[in-house]
Amino acid sequence: MKKRYRFSGEYTDYYFNTSFANLETIVDSDKAIIVTDENVFRSHKKRLDNWNVVVLKPGEEFKVQSTVDDIIAQFIHFEADRSTFVIGMGGGVITDLAGYAASVYMRGVPFGFVPTSLLAMVDASIGGKNGIDVGVYKNLVGVIRQPRFLLYDPSLLQSLPEKEWINGFAEIIKHAAILDKAMFRELEKRSLEFYRKDPVALAKLITRNAAVKSKVVMNDQFEKGERRLLNFGHTLGHAIEQLYELSHGQAISIGMIEAAKLSEHFTGFAETRRLAALLDKYGLPVQMDYDRMEAFDVLRMDKKRNANEMRFILLNGIGEAIVKSIPLTTLSKLIKQLN
Ligand code: NAD
Repeated sequence: MKKRYRFSGEYTDYYFNTSFANLETIVDSDKAIIVTDENVFRSHKKRLDNWNVVVLKPGEEFKVQSTVDDIIAQFIHFEADRSTFVIGMGGGVITDLAGYAASVYMRGVPFGFVPTSLLAMVDASIGGKNGIDVGVYKNLVGVIRQPRFLLYDPSLLQSLPEKEWINGFAEIIKHAAILDKAMFRELEKRSLEFYRKDPVALAKLITRNAAVKSKVVMNDQFEKGERRLLNFGHTLGHAIEQLYELSHGQAISIGMIEAAKLSEHFTGFAETRRLAALLDKYGLPVQMDYDRMEAFDVLRMDKKRNANEMRFILLNGIGEAIVKSIPLTTLSKLIKQLN
């Protein structure tokens, strides 16, 4: 199924529930370079036989400028020019890196993505944010530029480790919590194992989540309003992620619960337990004894801070999120009282 989403002047073609083999019909393999990582390459080597491939070391620690330099050296080696198509095939680290390298190489060559992690399928590959980390600052440097296409082959997920499935579900539950009550109910009825074993339901869930994120981005590509809702759970979540050895999904799961508790205070939200039960069902933590003072100190440096206020995403109800500016002094008091 092909669908086109437009993002202020640019567009992205989404090839949902298709086979990787169709990539050849979208781009000319002689004029393309696939950027991937060792894990994806090892699992899907055969499919890549006819392609020029750059294979990177896996992991967030490699989402840095020196890796971009290595990618660009490989582009030069392949004699890439402005008509070369760059394809990021991997999880969010690879799509962020490949999109960024393609955006700066020769001031920009076209690129597309084949997301291979659940998180990249429903979140990271969508929306045009491409970039790298600098020191402790995640995604500090980057560009907003849309991929020409996204190719979704759910069979690529067969090699994805369990932990990464859980990370993907953290973002899926986030989408449901902020914007899609019906999906929230569906997730409550089903389970991670169910989706893993039912390719039809999984493909539908991926398409639905890609639509949720794409629509938000279409309405607000440069994060002036609605796109901020996607940060639900991420404000405190990122702070906790920086301080403790947690996966991204685990950190934002705790962040979502903390944001739900803050919502109780500001909006009268009354379904924190229901949200916790769903996160728990999908293998995500809902309780953590973290250092709240330290987390607040990290949070103060967040990009979402505006002078002495922080834009926080809260829930009015399941499927209904709002942005609220909270003075830092109030936030500090409330966060320290959370338990
Ligand atoms: P990741 O790219 O590190 O992938 C997770 C792990 O799974 C890696 O070890 C990877 O090698 C492995 N993997 C991926 N697909 C596989 C497959 N099919 N088979 C076997 N192994 C596979 O991480 P991620 O969770 O996909 O993405 C996280 C990154 O995405 C972060 O850097 C985050 O900042 C970024 N992100 C970006 C956006 C955006 O809008 N650009 C949004 C959300 C997240």
